[in-house]
Amino acid sequence: MKLIMLGAPGAGKGTQAARVAVELQIPHISTGDIFRANIKNGTELGKKAKAFMDAGKLVPDELTCDLVADRIAKDDCANGFILDGFPRTIPQAEALDKVLVSRGEKVDYAVNIDVPDEAIISRMSGRRACVTCGATYHIQFNPPKKEGICDNCGGELILREDDKPETVKTRLNVYHEQTQPLIDFYQAKGVLVTVDGTQALDDVFKAVLAKIGK
Ligand code: ADP
Ligand code: AMP
Repeated sequence: MKLIMLGAPGAGKGTQAARVAVELQIPHISTGDIFRANIKNGTELGKKAKAFMDAGKLVPDELTCDLVADRIAKDDCANGFILDGFPRTIPQAEALDKVLVSRGEKVDYAVNIDVPDEAIISRMSGRRACVTCGATYHIQFNPPKKEGICDNCGGELILREDDKPETVKTRLNVYHEQTQPLIDFYQAKGVLVTVDGTQALDDVFKAVLAKIGK
């Protein structure tokens, strides 16, 4: 199954994508995680992406689309994948379509996790991310077993630089201007499903599975 997670920054895309990926045994591909890994490893891509990310802006499409095309061509995507944080612009969605059409494939569902802006700021200030494996927690709603330590790998948990309130406001504006139009894009293709993302984590998960027929 080929899935896309849509929603504002902090809506819960990564949290749900990680769980759905385990449930369906397909890879969870987060462009944000890929960029952060490149920054950590000091690659050319990481150097180019960092300034955009720190400012809460989108990394340019020309740095993003080929990266995803290469990733979904890998063997582990043969039975599908779940994209988290991509596409974020109409040109990215068109680029993804082009790659899939060339393989005789298509997106099965675009899952829109709907959370109003008011809830986003508090979610983001409580988010903690593992510097080693990228796993995401929330100090109140999804705490790790041991404060500051990742359950999965024992890595250090940090508040992401771009989760500070000033940057979150920019990211929300960018979302409304550039990413929200994808809701209509996928609605027109007949693959959009929407889930109320203000529910508790487990309830959102159940709703996502129900909407994709699993
Ligand atoms: P995104 O990938 O959309 O940016 P995340 O999955 O990282 O968002 O979630 C943002 C923050 O909100 C994280 O700290 C996460 O633990 C928390 N969170 C996710 N889903 C819920 C939920 N349903 N209720 C409360 N907090 C949530
Ligand atoms: P995320 O981890 O999805 O919250 O993404 C963090 C940041 O990485 C975003 O604010 C962007 O700067 C960048 N990013 C991630 N995915 C994309 C994308 N598809 N297009 C452009 N920029 C992206």
